[in-house]
Amino acid sequence: MPLHSLPVHELRHLLVQKEIKVSEVVQAYLDRVETLNVKINAYVTVMGESALKEAGLYDEGRKDLNASPLAGVPLAIKDVLCLRGTRTTCGSKMLENFVPPYDATVIEWMKSAGAVFLGKTNLDEFAMGSSNENSAFGPTRNPWNLSKVSGGSSGGSAAAVAAGLCSAALGTDTGGSIRQPASFCGVVGLKPTYGRVSRYGLVAFASSLDQVGPIARDVEDAALLLQTMAGYDSRDTTCVDLPVPDYMGGLKKSIGGMKLGIPKEYLIDGIHPDVALSMEKAIETFRTLGAETVEVSLPHTHYGVAAYYIIAPAEASSNLARYDGVKYGHRSTDARDLLSLYRRSRSEGFGAEVKRRIMLGTYALSAGYYDAYYKKASQVRTLIRNDFLKAFEKCDAIIAPVAPIPPFDIGEKVDDPLQMYLSDIFTLPASLAGIPGISVPCGFSGEHLPIGLQILGPHFAEESILRLAHHFERATDHHPGRPPVE
Ligand code: GLN
Repeated sequence: MPLHSLPVHELRHLLVQKEIKVSEVVQAYLDRVETLNVKINAYVTVMGESALKEAGLYDEGRKDLNASPLAGVPLAIKDVLCLRGTRTTCGSKMLENFVPPYDATVIEWMKSAGAVFLGKTNLDEFAMGSSNENSAFGPTRNPWNLSKVSGGSSGGSAAAVAAGLCSAALGTDTGGSIRQPASFCGVVGLKPTYGRVSRYGLVAFASSLDQVGPIARDVEDAALLLQTMAGYDSRDTTCVDLPVPDYMGGLKKSIGGMKLGIPKEYLIDGIHPDVALSMEKAIETFRTLGAETVEVSLPHTHYGVAAYYIIAPAEASSNLARYDGVKYGHRSTDARDLLSLYRRSRSEGFGAEVKRRIMLGTYALSAGYYDAYYKKASQVRTLIRNDFLKAFEKCDAIIAPVAPIPPFDIGEKVDDPLQMYLSDIFTLPASLAGIPGISVPCGFSGEHLPIGLQILGPHFAEESILRLAHHFERATDHHPGRPPVE
C-alpha cells in the first residue's frame, strides 16, 4: 500500500521499526498536498515548514518515537480549532487574519502526544453547512468525484484523509459535521458524547451541541485518536470527569449477542435507493456477525430538523455577537461612527449563510418569540433525547444511514437552504440528544460515490460503537477506499 494510504497504526509500525523517517513521511504528504490541493481545496493553510522542523526532531533523536502511539504522525486540523501562532480562519473572511495566542486543549494534548500538524483544513464558514460550499475560501471538492460536494462542515478534513493528504484529521460536529463528510468521502468519523472531549479553544458555533472528534482511514485509527482527545479539562465546564476507557483494547471484544436497534422512522420515503440498499446489506452483515437486530421507535425524529435549526442558530447568533470589528476579526475601514463600524464590519466579514443563521437565531430569541421558538425547540429536544433513552432500554446501539442521499453536485442545493437542512435529518437527532455516533463506509452508490453507515450509542458508549464499527469494517470490503484522485 502506498505510504499516503496507510492508516496511522500501520504507519507507526514502519516508523518505530525505523523503516522510514518521519521527515520522509511528512515530505511525501506535503508533495501530495502541493499537487492535489489545487484540485480538492482541502487545506486553507499548509504548515510545511513547521511540520518538517518537527519531523526533524524525531529523525535527529531529539524526540522519542516510542513516547506515544501518535508520535510522528502527520495530522490535519479543522480550521475552527485554535492553534497558537497559526491563523485560524473558521472558513470566514471575518477571521481571515486571526492568529490565536493559545492552543485548544485537544491541540495541546495532540502536541504532547507528539503528532505533527500538516495544516488547517477547509470548512463551511463557522461550521455552518452540510456541503463545504459556505467557505470563504471556496468549496472543498469530493476526492471521489470533483464535481460533487465533500460534505460539511468538516469537508476539508474528510477529503484530506480520503485523498491521502494527511494520516488522520480532527473535525467538529454540531449536527453531523464529522459524520456526514466522513460518509461522503468514504472515511471513518466519530462524534463523541457531548462532554467527552474538551471544547476549550474550539471557536464556538452552538455551544450546547459542538463536539470535537476524529476523522480517520479506519476505525482503529479513530479509536487511537479518541484515546488522546478524550478526558476531563477544567477549562470547559461541560467536560465530564469520567475515566477514559481503553478504546483500542475494546475493539477486540466480540459483538456476538449485541442488540442493534433499527429505528423504523429512519426508513422513510425519499431515502435514496442506493442508501436504502446499503443499509439493508449492513443489517445482514451484522446478523452474520452474530448481532441481533430489533425494531425500535424514535417517534420525534421528524421534529429534529426544526428543533435543531432553531437551537443552533439561536446559540450561533449569541456566540457570533463578539465579532463587531472592535477587538479582533475583520474591521471595516470606512466606518463613520461606532454603529456603522459594527454594521459594516459584520456585513463585510460574514457570508450569506452565517448572516441567515444570525437573523434566524436573533428572531427566535427575541422578546415575544422566545417561548414560541427557542423554548419550544428545547422542549422538543428533551423529547428526542428521551426517545433515544427509551430505545436504548431495548438495544445496545442503533444503526441508521448517515445521510438520506449520496454526495450531491456542487451548486445543487446552494440556493435552497431548506433542502440543504433536510439532508441533515439523520445526524441532527443524535446531536440534540448528546449521544455518540460513528460513520463507517458501507457501500457505494450507482455513481461510485461512498455511502456511510451510522452507529449510535448511549451516552459515553464510544467503546461499543467503535467495536461494532470495527467488526463491520473487517467483515466488509468498502475499506480502505482509495479515490481515483490522481
Ligand atoms: N449541517 C449542520 C448545520 O449546517 C451541522 C453543521 C455542524 O455539525 N457543524 O448546522
